Amino acid sequence: MRLSRFHLATVKEVPADAEIISHKLMLRAGMIRKLASGIYTWSPLGLRVLRRVEAIVREEMNRAGAIELLMPSIQPQELWEETGRWQKFGGQLLKIKDRKQAGYCYGPTHEEVVTDFARHELKSYKQLPVNFYQIQTKFRDEIRPRFGIMRAREFLMKDAYSFHVDADSLAVEYRNMYDTYTRIFTRLGLRFRAVDADTGAIGGSASHEFHVLADSGEDAIAFSSGSDYAANVEKAEALAPTGERPAAQATMESIDTPTQKTIDELTAFLGVAAAQCIKTIIVRGNQGLVALCVRGDHEINEIKAARLDELPGESVLADEAEIEGAIGCKPGFIGPVGLPDSIPIIVDRDAALLADFVCGANAGGKHLRGVNWERDARSTRIADLRKVVEGDAAPDGTGTLSIARGIEVGHVFQLGSKYAEALDATVLDDQGKARIMSMGCYGIGVSRIVAAAIEQNNDEAGILWPEAMAPWQVVICPINMAASAAVRDEAERLYNELTGRGIEVALDDRGLRPGSMFADAELIGIPHRIVIGDRGLAAGTYEYRRRGEAENQSLSRDELLALFA
Ligand code: ATP
Ligand code: MG
Repeated sequence: MRLSRFHLATVKEVPADAEIISHKLMLRAGMIRKLASGIYTWSPLGLRVLRRVEAIVREEMNRAGAIELLMPSIQPQELWEETGRWQKFGGQLLKIKDRKQAGYCYGPTHEEVVTDFARHELKSYKQLPVNFYQIQTKFRDEIRPRFGIMRAREFLMKDAYSFHVDADSLAVEYRNMYDTYTRIFTRLGLRFRAVDADTGAIGGSASHEFHVLADSGEDAIAFSSGSDYAANVEKAEALAPTGERPAAQATMESIDTPTQKTIDELTAFLGVAAAQCIKTIIVRGNQGLVALCVRGDHEINEIKAARLDELPGESVLADEAEIEGAIGCKPGFIGPVGLPDSIPIIVDRDAALLADFVCGANAGGKHLRGVNWERDARSTRIADLRKVVEGDAAPDGTGTLSIARGIEVGHVFQLGSKYAEALDATVLDDQGKARIMSMGCYGIGVSRIVAAAIEQNNDEAGILWPEAMAPWQVVICPINMAASAAVRDEAERLYNELTGRGIEVALDDRGLRPGSMFADAELIGIPHRIVIGDRGLAAGTYEYRRRGEAENQSLSRDELLALFA
């Protein structure tokens, strides 16, 4: 591509409304332009990158045996009513009416449409298993569209749906898709983790999310240093600590802590470690209040708490008035000693191992020191209540946990018969009996991957594309081209030679000064830069620099071409 004939539209200013680096760089590089909230145009430059991602996704899906089709974006209300999702999908569903006042939605996903397709097309078990996929624009009316195309309302998704005669066949295809996703994200050059997103069933294989690791990610992920184990922090189990609770040594005593309500204030005042304190939180239970105790250096995991039998499926803090009414003291000084019998006390596994600890005294301005379970404080039962932290033992016994943030770029899910049942999608099995099909669904956020890759690969100068995603692999920058026929000719010659080898090359023939050419090439992240100038040509050398490296290399023509053999 000759850049004089292309539409490059880089800007210097950092856009004011962009919060994260990928959004800023995509705007500065001129990859996307906003049309309306969460709705973007992909410029010719942005589209080159998007198409690369799409091509790899398509290639690997085809290799895995999935078959491409294309379903409509506009979907009829009646079909969504058959599955009950016309109501249940909620505000994300963009509903529209045609001129006859018939209801439609703009597809946020395609389970309904693909299952309708399958119930008409698939008649016999002999046609199964089959996996249909498409790469297509979706619309979700997100409450808070943000970060550019990262969380957009209109975005590009690859969605695949597999159909099976039984659950075993589904499990095989699920594995196939899991492996395919691993290949796709590896080829794209991304650092990622497959995270167990299982919603409860033992075995943990009904659903996985693929996350690109980046600090700006919306999800916190705990993963093991020693294995593939990875889980959403909210779901990761905090293993029961090994060892016994030490014997009680101290006698319990009351201490005045007039203004020390938080763990930080308390530990600073008393000179004890947070890990030697008990933090007590009062939540609303099924019958009255419930006390939850964790160590001072740990945090309650609300999702785990919500699953306790004593709680109504959600974890809601009691307010000050409720606490004062039941316990006679304000929050900040609550503890397990002498709580009314009507309040169950559920103690985290780690907190249960403490001896001689510090906790609130259930009296304003007072804490207790030298407290021990059983002797001084009752506990109703012990449970896993806390969020895992960096350095915890991995639940699969293979090392320690690290915690990182992740961006969800893919999701594989064993749906089972949910949609097939609702839409009565059956095939005849080998006995001639009608059977509801089992389904899997597999999504990839094609457009989100572009932003996620930038989050992982950037520096002060701009984007550092992984080779497979770059808009061009090489940029040729001729110095002072207008004045030098030798430079112009050699730039053309090299451009043709590399292009002839199937390499995507940008020839910067815009006649800009070197600084401007280099700044653009760095901003838009082209991996290889070749500078051609009169002085180098006279010496038979080219100036080469790999994006991200600080130094130029002076290479002969052969050495240069060897880089792209
Ligand atoms: P999220 O939790 O991020 O809202 P989701 O779980 O709703 O995503 P899925 O229904 O699993 O998303 O969709 C498949 C993929 O589509 C996601 O893994 C994600 O990469 C992408 N995706 C979902 N919503 C958006 C969006 N608003 N903008 C860009 N990509 C999206
Ligand atoms: Mg998801």
